[in-house]
Amino acid sequence: MSGDRVRELVRAEVLAMRAYHAPPADGMVKLDAMESSWQLPDALRRDWLARLAEVEINRYPDPACAGLKTRIREELGIDDAHGLVLGNGSDELIQMIALLVGGGGGGSGRVLLSPAPSFSMYPLIAAAVGAQFEAVALREDFALDRAAFCEAIRARRPACVFLAHPNNPSGNCFDEEAILEALALAPGLVVIDEAYFSFCRRSFLPRLKEFPHLLVLRTFSKSGLAGLRLGMLIGGAEWTEQLEKIRLPYNINSLTQCSAAFYLEHAELMRREAEACVARREKMFAQLAEMPGVRAYPSEANFILFRVKDADETHRRLCARGVLIKNLHAAGTPLENCLRVSIGAEAENRAFIKALGESLR
Ligand code: PMP
Repeated sequence: MSGDRVRELVRAEVLAMRAYHAPPADGMVKLDAMESSWQLPDALRRDWLARLAEVEINRYPDPACAGLKTRIREELGIDDAHGLVLGNGSDELIQMIALLVGGGGGGSGRVLLSPAPSFSMYPLIAAAVGAQFEAVALREDFALDRAAFCEAIRARRPACVFLAHPNNPSGNCFDEEAILEALALAPGLVVIDEAYFSFCRRSFLPRLKEFPHLLVLRTFSKSGLAGLRLGMLIGGAEWTEQLEKIRLPYNINSLTQCSAAFYLEHAELMRREAEACVARREKMFAQLAEMPGVRAYPSEANFILFRVKDADETHRRLCARGVLIKNLHAAGTPLENCLRVSIGAEAENRAFIKALGESLR
């Protein structure tokens, strides 16, 4: 029986995992995945498509992404002392880091550590590469528990610490002093995942010189380009050289390389859209805060976490009204009765607030 062979050959960690699932969203107001609703103005969209038409799709992409990397270095102000690795989304970069320092499977004993709740891929990827995962509980208000976090680093000596800044799903940035203490203590790598940088504009990039074991992650996904799958890792060249060895040679396809370079020519538009998103977020936060039976958590990202009396029921009612957000409810956990909504375009946000009001009645 092939089922027996599966159970015999597939590693126990993988057998125990569940594949990532994204619910169908056809025809719904889609506010579940922190995408942006922003699109290029029509004229620029035509220019972009004309640029794409020139791509030699019969050829392999440039494995070094030379042109695109030059543009990214300019945009982010990355100096020559630091390396830049591109990934098929920052998900892939997280996987590369985990493979680099956490892999080795059963018994390697390597630990990857992050606060919890945080980005769901950290524990999933740790399991996939055969590393141990240590989750350090956040406080009730989702702030970092500085003493517990530092103690866990001392005790478990993780090969890598992941800190999402701002954090997903809570939306807050952790106390900078606490992060600096963790950075000073950590015996391994520390990855600051700045997926939501555009909405808070606070970064650890200027700290790279001070901490040679610091890596910073960014992504294009939250700026209207989730479909491109392009993530960036910036860090000391001694680390990025090692990562380049395990990066698959053509992980960034030609259409993505061409598109991202084009969009970077219009980075100012993307920045303005992020600012507008922040304004819409503040408006939505105020609306949520006024709703009876809702506790909204302040956010520095492009989404808001909020708690209701019965998240499963509220989520079901929102779906029935054509609005898809993320249900994070797990009984007896810090996310009990929590829902997370992305900040969409004005009309989408209005539709959500209206549907939520009706769903809570
Ligand atoms: N890090 C964090 C904190 C995220 O929330 C996400 C996306 N939800 C990612 C990384 C992955 O982003 P990408 O689309 O670049 O793989």
